Amino acid sequence: MDGTIRAGFEPVIGLEVHVQLLTESKIFCSCSARFGRPPNTHVCPVCLGLPGALPVLNRKAVEFATLAAMALNCQIRETSIFARKNYFYPDLPKGYQISQYDKPLAEHGWIDIAALGGKKKIRITRVHLEEDAGKSLHAGFPDAADKTAIDLNRSGVPLIEIVTEPDIASPDEAFEFLTRLKEIILYTGVSDCNMEEGSLRCDANVSVRPRGEQKLGTKTEVKNVNSFRFIRDALGYEIERQIEVIEAGEKIVQETRLYDPSEGRTYGMRSKEQAHDYRYFPEPDLLPLVMDTEWQTEIRDRLPELPEARRLRMVEQFGITAHDAQVLTSTKSLADQFESAAKAAKNAKRVANLVQSELMGRLKAKGLEIENSPVSMKGVAESADLVESGIISGKMLKDLYDLAFERAKDFPQIYEEEGRPQQSTDTSVLEKIMDELIAANPKQVEQYRAGKKTVAGFFVGQVMKASKGQANPQIVNQVVTRKLES
Ligand SMILES: [Zn+2]
Repeated sequence: MDGTIRAGFEPVIGLEVHVQLLTESKIFCSCSARFGRPPNTHVCPVCLGLPGALPVLNRKAVEFATLAAMALNCQIRETSIFARKNYFYPDLPKGYQISQYDKPLAEHGWIDIAALGGKKKIRITRVHLEEDAGKSLHAGFPDAADKTAIDLNRSGVPLIEIVTEPDIASPDEAFEFLTRLKEIILYTGVSDCNMEEGSLRCDANVSVRPRGEQKLGTKTEVKNVNSFRFIRDALGYEIERQIEVIEAGEKIVQETRLYDPSEGRTYGMRSKEQAHDYRYFPEPDLLPLVMDTEWQTEIRDRLPELPEARRLRMVEQFGITAHDAQVLTSTKSLADQFESAAKAAKNAKRVANLVQSELMGRLKAKGLEIENSPVSMKGVAESADLVESGIISGKMLKDLYDLAFERAKDFPQIYEEEGRPQQSTDTSVLEKIMDELIAANPKQVEQYRAGKKTVAGFFVGQVMKASKGQANPQIVNQVVTRKLES
């Protein structure tokens, strides 16, 4: 896993993740928070930062942020304070962003990730609420070659910022952390975590130090990386670069660096752009945010079962493997669908097997996500029952799934279209095969009739073989026993 990191050094990584909350309106005004609308159509004096406009806090944003923080095992602060973070940037008309500083909404959380040698706890320092800034556009309008345009639709959209302790020790752990974090947030339903639309953004702080050293090395910040894979790559590059600088006897410069995925390397930003002194002070236009116990309890009651707990329960309840549970809980909707199918079907384990053996492979071959599968979970449950009750064979099921994927139709529909096929229950062919087998194997027949009943298995195998696996095993069993006992 850590193959790329040189033995003598140890990377130390902390992440800052911004997640956009799925509220209808912005955090301090009633403008729509919807993505992808014509530029500057969702704006008002508040989110344009006009003088005298007063922010009003969106209750839903607070509840979503709290729900996410609870899912990340954070302690909710009873009183949190909004603060102004002052800086100048063209997409920030107020000249400050309303955020939280020394009294954030939530603190002291953690999530477990899979790491080398088992589980590892990554601590979460804080989760706080803030507003998003607008967006600078460099393309997609007539004068784009020599002008920059500003779209303020995003200005004032609610965000949570999730900050970790520097507990992450490799690019792979960072990748795993982000994967688990996204999974948890998606389960809570407070964000769609869509990275292409900027609903989830990640900055990484990274430093290296000689292995065993306690003191942290000088860190750099890698910003604006828009996929988990790129974050892993950017960290890998940055760790290697820092080690080279140190080994050359030079010093790491504390700076912000941007990752260029096409070149696979990071670049330092001009130092002028990063001289930050935000001069935080409490936001005078907003009251302290008070989350009393009653409100907290009300929100905690809405917390859904989270992925890790769900996996453990599913293993227990449906008798499936941990790997099955991992695959089947990759999204909440898949897990919900699986559970309803597993409960509806005669045999949950068979449903889990079918999903993985028949569904996943075909989806992968077609490049489809489970959400776009032609065969629904209801279809999987129905097909599982048909096999379970011996109406169709495993081979027939495979053929029907092939047809379903070919024609992009669900299983029940294909089953109807194919005239509700059944495996043969006409026993005359099987009886004929069995008569021949009895004639050809007198010794085995004698053993059976002398009391060695296990010999029946030999005949069942032979009959199945002769039917090329098409026969219904239950019926074969009946025919074999009947013939041997007559
Ligand atoms: Zn507004």
